[in-house]
Order: sequence, then structure tokens, then C-alpha cells
Amino acid sequence: MKILVINAGSSSLKYQFMESDGGEVFAKGLCERIGIDGRLTHKVPGREDVVREIPMPTHNEAIQSVLDIMVDPEKGVIASTDEIAAVGHRVLHGGAAFTESCIIDDACIAAIEKCIPLGPLHNPANLMGIRACQKIMPNTPQVAVFDTAFHMTMPPKAYIYAIPYEYYEKDDVRRYGFHGTTHRYVSARAIDMLGNPEHSRVISCHLGNGSSLAAIVDGKVVDTSMGLGPLAGFPMGTRCGDIDATILEYLMGRYGYDIKEMLNILNKKSGVLGISGVSSDFRDLDNAAAEGNERAQLALDKFIYEVRKYIGAYATAMGGVDAILFTAGIGENSIDLREKICTGLEYMGIKMDHDKNNVRGKEALVSADDSKVKIYVIPTNEELMIAMDTAALCK
Ligand code: ADP
Repeated sequence: MKILVINAGSSSLKYQFMESDGGEVFAKGLCERIGIDGRLTHKVPGREDVVREIPMPTHNEAIQSVLDIMVDPEKGVIASTDEIAAVGHRVLHGGAAFTESCIIDDACIAAIEKCIPLGPLHNPANLMGIRACQKIMPNTPQVAVFDTAFHMTMPPKAYIYAIPYEYYEKDDVRRYGFHGTTHRYVSARAIDMLGNPEHSRVISCHLGNGSSLAAIVDGKVVDTSMGLGPLAGFPMGTRCGDIDATILEYLMGRYGYDIKEMLNILNKKSGVLGISGVSSDFRDLDNAAAEGNERAQLALDKFIYEVRKYIGAYATAMGGVDAILFTAGIGENSIDLREKICTGLEYMGIKMDHDKNNVRGKEALVSADDSKVKIYVIPTNEELMIAMDTAALCK
């Protein structure tokens, strides 16, 4: 089925038009500066990119510009928008209500709206994308695929926070976890490569600008590092990961920050950027550390140290581990970080093959032949997962 996959942000919208069966991408692109002026970048494999300034006061004009370029006689890839069988939307927060993807109807929209307090930045933007598609393509089925859904198999002891229980009961305060679509896609690939054993214990390491780990037993998440929101876990590009809440009170008192300013620091100015003062980009940190920048080295050391601690914790939570997999920008590309994360874990049966690990951006088994635990590099393909879910629900 030919599916249009949409990832709508507040002022941007990414799209990919693809075949759900096999994943061939016909066209993809990005609408930027929605609500400001508007720019469309449209890419078709084997052709020159098209960049157009198009007024986009709202997401409606953005979606319309995507459809217009797709049917453009010269730059397009389809004769009519009827060829779009369905639209799959990435939605950040599904709360506990959504354990899987669902066809978008009034009840689904109401449930996504109800989750706005949990995903205040993303859910409203996701809804704008959904509403624009409903308006402009009223007869095309739409599906919502949630970042949180795959994690909803966690047991209460993993998702409950140790604060008064009433906040869970009344206010839905609990661990939700994110990157679920990626963790689902890559762990399914890993289980497939393990030969589909009856019992499998996988640690999925999504290491990108935002990062999270998930512990997955028999294809079901039992724990994950992000929490109610994506700030939790280990340090990321600019996010702090788990910290002592006392720090908030201390710094807010000392500098007079309000909670918004404090959270902005923890979300945008912390992580490896905060420690190094150099960059949130791991390539910049590698370069700076190689030139002797000690804080860049410390940021890298901290990141590696915390990821290793999570691997140890999740192996214990699962009573062992059969496979560790690396995905996303850093996980797929940083040979050095993968190596440093795995080195010294031989006591757990984790043994890397340094030659095999010399790989970037493609699926590979990188553990030694005698490693008890298989180590895989598996490029994520979130769009394909969204397209597959959309096709399955619309068939
Ligand atoms: P996002 O979470 O925004 O989708 P990505 O998954 O694209 O992010 O990951 C971005 C990160 O991947 C950046 O920190 C970048 O430095 C890192 N990265 C990409 N290529 C490499 C590489 N060759 N070596 C080290 N880090 C890399």
C-alpha cells in the first residue's frame, strides 16, 4: 500500500511517501517555517531536490503544498492524490490509553487531546497535522502511531514513581517512555536475526540527539529509560537525564529562575553540551576531545558510563541478556562509542569483534563469534514501521 507518513511539529512537518510492503520511498521532504513564511524541500530519489518558498500560515497550507508537489506533472511522483491509500501520523504521547496504533476517529482525537498535558509541546502540533490532513484529504483514512505505545507492556514496578500514589491514580504520573516505534522496529529485527527464539532478552540502545534504552523480553518492553517526558534517563545531546530533584530547588533559589527557565536549562543547555560547553553533536565532541579538550572528554566519558550502567541494570532486570542493539545517529555511526560502551563487559558475555564493529549506518552483527550476547547495529526506520501499521489497520 502507498502510504503518506507525516511527522508534524509546531512549525515544521516532515513527510515520506512510501510503499508499506518493502519500504520503497517514492518521495520525502520537509515543510519549514509554518506560521512564519513557509518553505518546502521535496526530494525524489535520483532527481534534484526541489526547494520552494510557499506561504504556509497554517499546517493546512503545508499539507496542501505537499500534495501539490506530489501530483506536479514535472516534479511529482503520482498522477492523483487518490493514489495515497492512507496517511500515518507520528504522535508523541498516547498516555496509557494507547497500547498500539489506531485509526483516527473522533474518539482517537479526543484521547490524543487528553494527553496534551503529558506532551504539551508535541501533541498539539501532531494534532494540527492530523486536522490539516482530515480537512484536505477527507476521504483518506488516517492512522496515529504513538511513540509511547510500545512501552505500555511495562509492569507497574517499572512504571510507578515513588511519590504519593494518588498522583498516579488522579494525574497519570508514571513512566511512559519514548522512541517506542524505533525500539519496536529494531528489536523485532534483532529477534528475527536471533532466529526467532521462544525466549529472548534484548537491550535496545537508541543513541541519537535524544537517547533512550529499552529492556525487551520476548518482544515486550519491561523497562525503559525515559519517563513521564523525554528528559529522563541518561545524559543526551542537550538533556540532563535523571538528576537529583534537589538541584532544581537549589538553583532556582540561587538564581531566581522560574520553573520554565529551569526546565529550559535542563532540556536545552544540559547533557553533553552542558558538560563540555562545546557542542551537543558527538562528532564535535570527538574532535574536541582528540585535541585535548578535557570537558569534551568528560562529557563523552559520562555518556558512556551512564549507558553502561543502564545495560547492567537492564541485564539484571531481565535475568540476563541475549542481544544488545545499537541504533540512531550515534548508535549506527559511532564505531568508537559502541566499542567503549561494550569494552569491559566480557564478564557479562558481551564481547565485541573490533573488525566487524568497523561499520556505519548498515545492519550488522558486530559481536565476536564466541560472544554469548549478540551485538547488532540496526539502522532505525520509524517511517516504515508507521507505514506498516497504517497499512495493516487500513486493509
Ligand atoms: P535525532 O535524535 O535528532 O533524530 P540522530 O539520531 O540523527 O538524532 O542522532 C544525531 C547524533 O548522531 C548527533 O549527536 C551526531 O553527532 C551523531 N552522529 C552522527 N554520525 C556520527 C558519527 N559518525 N560519529 C559519532 N556521532 C555521530
